[in-house]
Amino acid sequence: MRSRARCTSATAPEGEWRIGSACVRAEAVSHRGPTLGFRFTELGASFCYLPDHEPALVAPLETVEPTWISGHSLAMGVDLLLHDCQYTDLEYPRHYGWGHSCVSDALMFAHRAGARRTLLAHHDPRRCDEALDRLHEVVRARWSRLGGDPHAIEMATELAESEVPSRASARLSA
Ligand SMILES: [Zn+2]
Repeated sequence: MRSRARCTSATAPEGEWRIGSACVRAEAVSHRGPTLGFRFTELGASFCYLPDHEPALVAPLETVEPTWISGHSLAMGVDLLLHDCQYTDLEYPRHYGWGHSCVSDALMFAHRAGARRTLLAHHDPRRCDEALDRLHEVVRARWSRLGGDPHAIEMATELAESEVPSRASARLSA
């Protein structure tokens, strides 16, 4: 068994709250319908979870002030960011406003936030593993051109675990 979690739902409080030793913060983010993004911090390690997110709806992410970027304060300087990357740049114009990100916007969001590592997730369900592998190569090259470490950007895969490289040995499933 991979998880012993018992799921219940509750209204997220404003500000920060604790789950065990972890500190949690939620904010509304740009997506269709009310949607929260989360930042978890535990023993100095931080993880930001933004699987359903279209931050470039307001203005181009390259130039807009950080305070106008949806989810920026959740992801700022985070050790590990999990971010929406459903579409290629070619696919995106047909899905603009659907609540999900293209490759360029996912990378620019991670870059502007200063995320140390990024997992790209919410892959389009029609994309096969081979296509995702090819997209990963494109993503790594483009992340390098943004000045990032190509090993610090990965495609999220089902049931994979990522260890947050930080002061602590916290393990987070991604
Ligand atoms: Zn969605």
